[in-house]
Amino acid sequence: MISVAIDGPSGAGKSTLAKQLAVELGFIYVDTGAMYRSIGLYGMRKEIDIKDPVQVEGVLSEINISLAFQEGTQHIYLNNEDVSEKVRAEQAGMAASVVAQQPAVRQFLLELQRDMAEKNNILMDGRDIGTVVLPNATVKIYLTASVEARANRRYKELQEKGNPETFEKVKKDIEERDWQDMNREISPLKKAADAVEVDTSALNLQQSFDVLLDLIRQKANL
Ligand code: C5P
Repeated sequence: MISVAIDGPSGAGKSTLAKQLAVELGFIYVDTGAMYRSIGLYGMRKEIDIKDPVQVEGVLSEINISLAFQEGTQHIYLNNEDVSEKVRAEQAGMAASVVAQQPAVRQFLLELQRDMAEKNNILMDGRDIGTVVLPNATVKIYLTASVEARANRRYKELQEKGNPETFEKVKKDIEERDWQDMNREISPLKKAADAVEVDTSALNLQQSFDVLLDLIRQKANL
């Protein structure tokens, strides 16, 4: 099986690009961020203190997460409910970043993620895919961009959706999430020694797609 691991900070374009690349290559796209977001969402709905690892671990046995590909798009199910849209909320992203610091949560998802990579040609994106989840991935990419560039993209996206967030607030949220993801004890975001770093600050979506597709084809002999 071929596995492509794409890691990097939030807002670098990982999921948009990974989705398109998976379609182009005929691989299954595994959005691991959406899995952490689903657990964050579940904890918020249950009104537990998601910062308390004991409380979160206590509800993991109630959680079933699955992915399905329907009409050309990837859907994520939390206990059979399609939460693909709901997990995109900023609040779910922040909650994900909190529960992602907890070993029991990471172990729970690690098994699910490895299982998917064993059975399919996959393109998996996240923070620790090349370093922890799939250390033997066929191709490892570290996708990044400057904080300014990432905040700009997120800001435009939110404006298009009619969200009144200020640029400063968007940038601050990105910096906060970067800090949490890079400084946590367990599986912090970092570039794997054998990953190829791609900086998309000065590239548009099509240019980024072309660079990544070339890289994957070359490394995986496709
Ligand atoms: O990529 P996305 O923004 O959807 O991820 C949400 C959060 O989930 C990240 O900020 C990170 O804290 C966590 N995450 C993680 N490991 C992954 C994927 C996501 O810790 N492999």
